[in-house]
Amino acid sequence: MSPSPFSDPDAIAETGVIVVDLQGDFTTLKQGALAVDGADAAYVKEVEQVTLRLKSAEFTLFATQDWHPKDHVSFFTSLPGKQAFDTIEIHGETQVLWPPHCVQDSGNAEILINPDTFSSVVKKGTDSRFDSYSGFQDQGNTPTGLEQLLRAADITRVAVYGLATDYCVKATAMDAAKRGFEVFLVEDLCRGVAPDTTREALEEMKQQGIHIITSNEI
Ligand SMILES: [Zn+2]
Repeated sequence: MSPSPFSDPDAIAETGVIVVDLQGDFTTLKQGALAVDGADAAYVKEVEQVTLRLKSAEFTLFATQDWHPKDHVSFFTSLPGKQAFDTIEIHGETQVLWPPHCVQDSGNAEILINPDTFSSVVKKGTDSRFDSYSGFQDQGNTPTGLEQLLRAADITRVAVYGLATDYCVKATAMDAAKRGFEVFLVEDLCRGVAPDTTREALEEMKQQGIHIITSNEI
């Protein structure tokens, strides 16, 4: 077995950990509006334990937080006659219409790990006109500030996990790779909305050169 790519202090200093959208509305634990299968109490506990272990090991930790205004474009309730999971075309892209979720200041928009664990929490999807699966920028190409935070911390590699594999985790990991970061996707700490899109997402990430690893490798 080759040595872990995270085994020495230099490697740890260069690696940012990005925990994507670990919020009540995406979990069955909190009976979320958009609960992802398998995002239950055991899953959240496991993510928390690994995240705290990585903090003790002195990785720099970041979180993304879906943070929508009440009239957000991704909510089916924002368009008359639409139902949850209908798709429409917006700005030339297919948009899934979701049940309202992660509404700003609502209880289920809170991150399920103590926010003090993270050096920064980056909010996304704050503009009612644009969705933002990626933690780096929304679909109107407005950056969230995550890239600047990573660059300012001299981070060149990122480990990414959270919810959901086939949407926000994938978009965040792909955007990190496109920006030149070496990306490690921690598969066992992710859950996907649907099995087929999750399989496709993992395949797409591999093709982009993203390393798929498990939490015991970090
Ligand atoms: Zn959202």
